[in-house]
Amino acid sequence: MKPTITRTAVLLALATGSIVHAYQVRSDMILTMADGQATVIDGYMEVGEDGRIVAIEAGEPPASSSEEIVDARGRIVMPGFVSGHNHLWQSAFRGLGADQELYGWLKSLHWTFGRHFETGDMYAFTLHGALDQMVNGITTTLNHSQTIAPSYEDYMEQFAAEMDAGQHFIYSYVLDSDEPDVEARKAKLVDLIAETEALLDGHPCLGFGLHGVGIYRGADKMSEEVSVAKELGLDMQVHYLEEKAESLKSGQSNFQAMKEGGAVWDGLVYAHFIHVTDEILNVSAAAGAKMIWNPLSNGRLASGLADVPRYIDQGLQVGLGVDGAASADIADPFQNMRMGMYALRMRDSDAGIMSCYQILEMHTLKTAEVLEVEDQVGSLAPGKYADFLIIDPVSPVFDPYATLVFASDASNIESVWVRGVKQVEAGEVLKHDLPELRSEVAERVARIAAAAKNTKPEDHM
Ligand SMILES: [Zn+2]
Repeated sequence: MKPTITRTAVLLALATGSIVHAYQVRSDMILTMADGQATVIDGYMEVGEDGRIVAIEAGEPPASSSEEIVDARGRIVMPGFVSGHNHLWQSAFRGLGADQELYGWLKSLHWTFGRHFETGDMYAFTLHGALDQMVNGITTTLNHSQTIAPSYEDYMEQFAAEMDAGQHFIYSYVLDSDEPDVEARKAKLVDLIAETEALLDGHPCLGFGLHGVGIYRGADKMSEEVSVAKELGLDMQVHYLEEKAESLKSGQSNFQAMKEGGAVWDGLVYAHFIHVTDEILNVSAAAGAKMIWNPLSNGRLASGLADVPRYIDQGLQVGLGVDGAASADIADPFQNMRMGMYALRMRDSDAGIMSCYQILEMHTLKTAEVLEVEDQVGSLAPGKYADFLIIDPVSPVFDPYATLVFASDASNIESVWVRGVKQVEAGEVLKHDLPELRSEVAERVARIAAAAKNTKPEDHM
């Protein structure tokens, strides 16, 4: 069956899309995070009717420019966070497998509950995850969608939910293994991409990638994914070298097959990439492969600490992700930055190992670069979407970067804007009924948990 984008999805996407009045945002603390622009700007940002940034300048705006003003003086204006690795549906399942590492945790979540999902579950859980991320300041996410629901139609609810949520996203797609042949599997993805591109500008999907599962399911599957990704010009993201025991047992030795199968190229994006060997790191960096670091999830699941400063020295591009909210367990980019940065500082007893500016840049522009959407989002610059946060900082502010990274969390977020449209104000989602959705999610999870109670968890991935 052909993938479908729901009518509601299209209408809502247009409604949350590009129709805004031009306005200016005034602030004495604009952090653009644009390449080479570390100086804090005291000035204004002009947003056009298409939801894109027209200008960012120091000083007073010209008298002739738009009259509508968002006064953010005394507050920090920064680009929305970009999260490069997420499973949005997991937001409904926090706090599970508290004493487990990756595989024990997977057993307590995916393999216990997955088969009991019904129509509508993935939609509700994914929408919940996307809205929750926006409340926490994440305006662009890569949803590494997962196929735990029983049917392809249920699986595709993840896409429909993101189209409705209003958050910018990249859809990391899993080829439909129920289709018997390669051409049919590929055709479904080609149709989805074409159908999305045919929508009027204003929808929140910034692009597609492939979620590679072949690394766990055999060389044939992997080479099929690699050839589809290369043919369609998509990146492929894979979970790799996450849990320590599995990495040492089989993960590291799988690299040879990946290399020989053409899987290590500049379209490969690793999620986690913790337990590397010198060879794996060097070959990957030389090939132009990239990675998403997920320190919150890596800490929670005791996966280990990626030696990110060394990776960067080797030339690897590194972005940040909060991962699924069942292993994070809060999709909080502030906490994510601190977890990663503090772990490195503790390890090395060296405060110079990573600066506030560097970790903030990693969760905005650098992640957008890894996802290849830096021409659209990731920093505040003319031509890009006006995806920004207004932060009410603790005072006094000695250094806005340090205040953001050390002394802020989601409760400091005054408002969240995507495509120039305000989506969140004082923690409240403006375009969806989040409290009602939370009740619906709780009911659906209770139904699934009751159904799972007397069944044995599945024992496969
Ligand atoms: Zn993941």
